[in-house]
Amino acid sequence: DHQQFIRNFCIIAHIDHGKSTLADRLLEFTGTVQHRHMQEQLLDSMDIERERGITIKMASVRLSYKALDGVTYQLNLIDTPGHVDFTYEVSRSLAACEGAVLVVDAAQGVEAQTLANVNLAMSSNLEIVPVINKIDLPAADPDRVAEEIEEVLAIDATEAIRASAKMGIGTEEILESVVRRVPPPSGDVNAPLRALVYDSHFDAYLGVVAYIRVVDGEITGGTQIKMLATGKVFDVTGVGVFAPRMKSIDKLRAGEVGYMTASVKTVGDCNVGDTVTLAHGGSSQPLAGYRQALPVVFCGLYPVDSNQYQDLKEALGRLQLNDAALTFEPESSAALGFGYRCGFLGLLHLDIIQERLEREFNLVLIATAPSVIYKVHLTSGETIEVDNPANLPPATQIAGMDEPMVAASVIIPSSYVGTVMDLARERRGVYVRTDYPARDRVMIHYKLPMNEILMDFFDQLKSRTKGYASFDYDQAGYEPSNLVKLDININGDPVDALSFITHKEKAYGRGRQLVEKLKAIIPRQQFEIRLQAAIGAKVIASENISALRKNVIAKCYGGDISRKRKLLEKQKEGKKRMKSIGSVEIPQEAFMSVLKLG
Ligand code: GDP
Ligand code: MG
Repeated sequence: DHQQFIRNFCIIAHIDHGKSTLADRLLEFTGTVQHRHMQEQLLDSMDIERERGITIKMASVRLSYKALDGVTYQLNLIDTPGHVDFTYEVSRSLAACEGAVLVVDAAQGVEAQTLANVNLAMSSNLEIVPVINKIDLPAADPDRVAEEIEEVLAIDATEAIRASAKMGIGTEEILESVVRRVPPPSGDVNAPLRALVYDSHFDAYLGVVAYIRVVDGEITGGTQIKMLATGKVFDVTGVGVFAPRMKSIDKLRAGEVGYMTASVKTVGDCNVGDTVTLAHGGSSQPLAGYRQALPVVFCGLYPVDSNQYQDLKEALGRLQLNDAALTFEPESSAALGFGYRCGFLGLLHLDIIQERLEREFNLVLIATAPSVIYKVHLTSGETIEVDNPANLPPATQIAGMDEPMVAASVIIPSSYVGTVMDLARERRGVYVRTDYPARDRVMIHYKLPMNEILMDFFDQLKSRTKGYASFDYDQAGYEPSNLVKLDININGDPVDALSFITHKEKAYGRGRQLVEKLKAIIPRQQFEIRLQAAIGAKVIASENISALRKNVIAKCYGGDISRKRKLLEKQKEGKKRMKSIGSVEIPQEAFMSVLKLG
């Protein structure tokens, strides 16, 4: 049986512990990529991944490895992202694997996402191969980390491989461990085709490229297939593997990982999580798919130049092809005009989508302050969901509101317990319990409102603990809360795109802070600008931005037309990203400043 020579595995770790670097070493060691073509974190193929040094999309690659037993194995490796926003990517890749290489930094030890990812891998019954990485670091303490792996993760670490992905130490042992310990796939090659779509991307020529894990049967070019969930039928135009670029091959058999193309033009016809089977005589048993990842953070994206509205729609559609968790629908704002309400898995996800829209599609965008989804009980007895503060009905029609909660865990050295508890209290956190995962380290569990996490929580946590804290969270249902909408008026007019929903007790402080921030951010203009924060008709804070002095105006905006044009050009380029609201120019930063309120 060919399957006995296949190993499907992913690499999981907390962010920055060295997954992508280890993947580089595996590619190199197996000769999948020649040394002269090697570049660091090769599987992070997007520019934005390379610049930020993080993995956003999982990447798949097939390696051919001649093991010490003399047999050549087919290894299918999936590199996964580590950040909490992208847990969905991790859970999808796990379903295509039988094993996981768990990378733990020899100096940092077990962190929040180490735990989260190990829990995911264990619940998918994956064999876990622990690797203690970065043993070259002076601060490395592999013995202590091995202890932590045993105590915190309950994984036998006696066979943990001590490695340095940077120096190439331990690479062969890792490959040998994968071959020895990860079980081969055990599908039925003689049964009708069943393959799981675990990811996809859109190619202008090929249509949807579906990344599949074949579980039973086989698939070749010309096979007529059916998507089980949608019932749609297609003719396969090609199958192949990532090596690491797309390489077409004759067929994919049970146990193998690769891609399929079938001139599918709409991603909705070939959803991630769906099962591919034969159009005739196929299986009716879908494979266990995935829970659809639902966006939890929403914001409005508006083109600065309204002529880009249609382009924005197309660009969002394109990105959605690669990113099932992204949602969008048209919305309009009195202040900003026409745009889209977009849904994301978290703030990093939002940030990355905005940057990709601007960079890959040349759009210049204004993003409004992110919001979570509130459940609003109306006096009429109806309950509605509101993800845009501007759409909140007037207070007189609201009987009560529920807000989404998260179960958060923070791992820190014990000396920071007080600091973290202070922060959690400021953010309306409810203490749950403390665990003691390892010597000198503490894991504190809190229940927190999600909207408090959006506001700068992670940055605060990092800075107040000098970078030592790691943080993870899960959705934890809804709870009733005393919430109000805070409006910002500019020269007397409410700016819908600046409204936000906050707890009543925080409203005064945050309203005051926000007008002060806006005063600092909005440039002085030719007239005085009056800024107010208000709850309903009641103004709770105000500030004035005084007008520019005449001679300064003359200098900047005088008769020099070419200079003025240059200025406009610059604005268009997004260097000075401003949106006129009424007659006031508001920079992009203003819309995000609500996130920086303590
Ligand atoms: P990922 O987020 O888990 O994919 O981590 P990366 O592979 O992007 O690595 C994060 C950082 O750690 C990069 O700067 C790497 O160069 C560095 N790094 C990875 N492995 C090692 C190692 O074995 N030793 C040292 N000293 N640094 C490493
Ligand atoms: Mg990475």
